[in-house]
Amino acid sequence: MSQSQANGHVYENQGTTNAQDAVEADSTSHVEYDAVVVGAGFAGMYQLYRLRELGLSTRVFETGEGVGGTWYWNRYPGARVDSPSMQYSLSFSSEMEQEWKWSEDYSPQADLEGYANHVADRFNLREHIQFGTSVTSAVYDEKSGRWIIRTDRGDWVSAKYFITAAGCLSATNVPNFKGIDTFEGQWYHTSRWPAEGVDLTGKRVGIIGTGSTGIQAIPKLAEQADHLYVFQRTANYSLPSNNKPMDPEFERDWKESYPVHRQRARESVVGVEVPAYPDRSALSVSDEERNEVFESAWGNYIALLSTFNDIAINPESNELVAEFVRDKIRQKVKDPAVAELLAPTDHPIGTKRICIDTHYYETYNRDNVTLVDVKTNPIETITPKGLRTTADEFEVDVLVFATGFDAMTGPLYRMGIVGKGGLPLQKKWEAGPRTYLGVSTAGFPNMFMITGPGSPSVLSNMTTSIEQHVDWITDAIKYLQENELESVEAKVDAEDAWVDHVNEVANATLYVKANSWYMGANIPGKPRVFMPYIGGVGNYRQKCDEVAANNYEGFALSQ
Ligand code: NAP
Repeated sequence: MSQSQANGHVYENQGTTNAQDAVEADSTSHVEYDAVVVGAGFAGMYQLYRLRELGLSTRVFETGEGVGGTWYWNRYPGARVDSPSMQYSLSFSSEMEQEWKWSEDYSPQADLEGYANHVADRFNLREHIQFGTSVTSAVYDEKSGRWIIRTDRGDWVSAKYFITAAGCLSATNVPNFKGIDTFEGQWYHTSRWPAEGVDLTGKRVGIIGTGSTGIQAIPKLAEQADHLYVFQRTANYSLPSNNKPMDPEFERDWKESYPVHRQRARESVVGVEVPAYPDRSALSVSDEERNEVFESAWGNYIALLSTFNDIAINPESNELVAEFVRDKIRQKVKDPAVAELLAPTDHPIGTKRICIDTHYYETYNRDNVTLVDVKTNPIETITPKGLRTTADEFEVDVLVFATGFDAMTGPLYRMGIVGKGGLPLQKKWEAGPRTYLGVSTAGFPNMFMITGPGSPSVLSNMTTSIEQHVDWITDAIKYLQENELESVEAKVDAEDAWVDHVNEVANATLYVKANSWYMGANIPGKPRVFMPYIGGVGNYRQKCDEVAANNYEGFALSQ
């Protein structure tokens, strides 16, 4: 055992014996922890910090060689957060909040990775994190009431609490393109971009995917490449970030009243403080007034979908914003045929994640950029020299897959989680994720999911939602300890009611109309279910707090 495992207890030759295959007696030694956390992004690091405060021995397993999660992996050119830097940060330490300086309104990847490293160093978290290690199975052993966690290093540990902090968008998706193995050039998924970068000078580059990632990467790739081919299947709505260097006066003002801003974000709908608009329909005002309102929000894109109260629910109101954005695209792109291809028409605006860009549409005015419509003429095969669609062949040196993620459930399934009765999580959720509050699932005692399906998570500012979940989970564990309870587990009826509620609020919106990753629609065979909770961050927090205040109503607590 290494010194860094010292916070857990080492047990020699004591593998548990009664549980499922993966738990069977093991001749190797293992360490017993109070808690195992998977992932060392903001969620995992803050959870570790809070559990350490409670005095729990905790091990964090992290696949990467460094902290930062999303901001460790997503190093593609142009990667940048789309929540304001002053709000996309952790609030638990007011000292750190005051000390830290963000250089831009919307932080680039390098700043966020730097910040994550600062968090790890400032709070001495690294000694509890095992890097370069992926969890391959986590199995609940009913006899001992402990989780048995195995890793790709061939070792195993046990823990009373098993907490997933592996992010919602960490399981990469490379579609199963025919011929991919024959490609003679280099290819990269954007979320596995090499830390040392890729020199694209003089190269012919092809990028597949025009979601948030592609839209951020394309302007940067176009600057470097000899020629860039953008293979677009579905056009997305993108709004300008209007990013700029941080204004010191704005920063000072914000820091002076940080607690007030944070509280507003916590009580908001999406976990970010946004300007308040009058509570009225987009159909209730004149065209002129409506356009003025949209124009004002164009400078603060987070507000655009909140300018009127029915954009997410009334197709007519939604179409008015959508057409406003399409007009902006037409104004920016010189070639009308290219502009029309870039103007989305197949889904209501906002029902797929809105993209935020810096000079995305303008990039199509460059001579070295070609937009290829792979909806009309789908990609047939990757070839040794490039890619063939049903209409044309393209020779490229580098292929970039900005093809997204197996969102929300993907990272959990890759951990091989098995609950009571040997039931794999994937099996329990085969018709779609079933959780109570998005933090727990029946049959998986003492397991908590940070920003799991059924919580606001990806529909919110992640740092706001991460902190809320970590605080709630920590309080729940503290409650167990103080009341000498051994386990907490969601009750099936509470879970059923929560799933019904999650579906009911989603079905009242236009979100369910889009083939989005929120619906699992980007992964062949994945059940079509709206996964996050759309009822709002503030409402959700209130519900979680009520459950806790009522002695964890809806959970079975056992001694
Ligand atoms: P994504 O939104 O799922 O986009 C994937 C893209 O790949 C889509 O354009 C998709 O087309 C295309 N694609 C997938 N399979 C294809 C195929 N077989 N042939 C042709 N095209 C194919 O993934 P993403 O862009 O990585 O974004 C995922 C999420 O990450 C975002 O929604 C956002 O939540 C987060 N993100 C945030 C930021 C930020 O904060 N600034 C930046 C990047 C990502 P279809 O639409 O036709 O399927």
